[in-house]
Formats: sequence, structure tokens, C-alpha cells
Amino acid sequence: MTILFRELYEAKEKEWLSPLACLAINSKGRQVPEKEDPYRTCFQRDRDRIIHSKAFRRLKRKTQVFLAPLGDHYRTRLTHTLEVVQIARTISRVLRLNEDLTEAIALGHDLGHTPFGHAGERALNELSSFGFNHAEQSLRVVDILEQRRKGKKGLNLTYEVREGIRNHSRGKCILFGQPCPENISYEALIVSLSDVIAYITHDIDDAVRAKILKIDQLPSKAISILGKTASEQIDTMVHGVIEGSTQGNIQIVPDVLNAIVELRTYLFEKLYPSEPIAREINKAQRIIRELFHYFMKNPPEDILQNDPEFTQNSIERNIIDFLAGMTDEYALNKYQELFLPSPWHT
Ligand code: MG
Repeated sequence: MTILFRELYEAKEKEWLSPLACLAINSKGRQVPEKEDPYRTCFQRDRDRIIHSKAFRRLKRKTQVFLAPLGDHYRTRLTHTLEVVQIARTISRVLRLNEDLTEAIALGHDLGHTPFGHAGERALNELSSFGFNHAEQSLRVVDILEQRRKGKKGLNLTYEVREGIRNHSRGKCILFGQPCPENISYEALIVSLSDVIAYITHDIDDAVRAKILKIDQLPSKAISILGKTASEQIDTMVHGVIEGSTQGNIQIVPDVLNAIVELRTYLFEKLYPSEPIAREINKAQRIIRELFHYFMKNPPEDILQNDPEFTQNSIERNIIDFLAGMTDEYALNKYQELFLPSPWHT
């Protein structure tokens, strides 16, 4: 009997990875069982499915913090995702966790993110009668929304990737010394920490680029530990996680941990609410609100036809999915088309 490449790879995982790692061969499987691939493990297939999804491609035109950036060097939700992937893979590989699972979770973690970053998320949460959270929406994208136009239901990912996506904001337990959710995988914890490492460093870098922040305004003790540039900061934080996690548990070296928490607090208390960012956020939220009210009264036919289980009650669910899936650019264009007069062209 021929031994498949995937089987060799799974055996290699068993031999090489840490006892804390989630092995592909031990996956709890997919919602709809499928025949295994001869070459790729289940987590490698999930990673590939996410990369080829439409929701993944839309990340390129979704805001990170700076709205629909015209400058080529500001982060978008796509480049943020790729930075999270890079950081998470490095940590995962050194700790001998499952790098493929880590990569798949990191690539998929923000698929449900709204246009206009967290401003869009907050607006949808206020508008929706059932609430809105981007992690839950990311799971909805991979479970239901992706492929719906083709009459299929989602990407049929493995339990471990789906759970990692759903829990991707819950690894902050490590930052705050709180008990972590039960059954969260080490790979999901690593993605969660890598998300924080990525956004802290690139939001500072982008804010400096936008001239709304100077490095010497940041807490000086944290900067003296982490470094001044994004590169130094990522390096110190990644080392802090790897070197703190030697006892069969994910931890961060204490002075690095304190510096991360201090910088994160600074961003949430001082940078994100600062006037230049808040001004644009208010405008973005207004766009989301007006589009929501308009589409609730005038639901687009093709959106409703996409839903095989459509009932009158599900209009709101479909409109929220439609708005959450929009890129910044699409939302701005829709707003312009619906609410602003267009000039006559001769
Ligand atoms: Mg993220």
C-alpha cells in the first residue's frame, strides 16, 4: 500500500511538535465530512481555502485605523492580517506548536471585520437588535456567507480553525493575568497575542507617519524596554512571548508584558479617541447608520435571493451581513450613489 505524503507529514508532526500542539491527525473534523487530501493536512487545506476566499480579498480595501487610506504605506486590514500571520507563525514554530493551524486562524481572524475598522463594528453593534462582534462575524463568514452565491454553505473548515477564529480576541487573558477560556488551543492563544503585537506596533507606526503622534509622547519606560521602531518593538515582544513560555504554558516575560499593557492602554485612552481619528470615525459611523436605515427600508433583491432560508424576519440579518462585508470604498460609493446628487456629464 502506498503511503500518502499527507500521512508522512502527519507522522512528522507527531514526532516533532510539542505535547501542547494540536495535531492535524487529532482534528475533531469538519461539519460536513470530506475525503482527505493526499498531500495537505486538514489545517493546510483550511489555510488555502481562506486565501482563495472573496472575504479575504476584500480585506485589502478595509480600514485598519486610518480610514480608506490614500497614502500607500498605511496598513489596511489585509496587511494587518499578514503581519499577524508572520508574528504568529514565528512564535508558533519556535514553541513547536502547529504552524499550519496558527497560520489558518491568523489568516481568517478578521474576515468578518466591517468597513471603517472598529468604528464600523461599534456602529453595527448599536444598530443591530442582536448585536455585532467581528470575531463572531468572521466565524459566520467561513461557516455560512462565503460561497453562498454559488449555492454552497461556507468553507466547511475544521473545528480547530473555526474555534480559533471565534476566540481570536480572547487570548488577552494572558496580558491581564485572567483565566483563559476553557478549551482554547495554544495556537489560538498565539494568534490572539500576535494580533495585539501587530496592532500596537503598526498603529503607532501609522500614527507617527500621519504626524498625529511623536514617539517621545509614548510612555517612556515602555519604549525603553520595547524600542522605538516597529521592527525593534515586534522583535522584543516576540522574544518576550517565546522566552516567557518555557514552562509548558504561554506567558510573557514580565517587563515586556508590562510594557505591552502600558502601550496598549495608551493607544486606547489617548491615540484612538484623539481628535483627528475621532472626527473621521464619526463621519464613518454616520455612513454606516444611514446605509443601514436605507437598506432596512429598501432591501436589495439580490441580497435576499442569496439566502436560501430567507424569511421576512431575516431582513435585518441579511442587511447586517451585507454592510459588514462591504469595503470602505464600496460603502463610500453606495453612500454617494444613494444620498448625494450626481453631476450631469455632457
Ligand atoms: Mg486583527
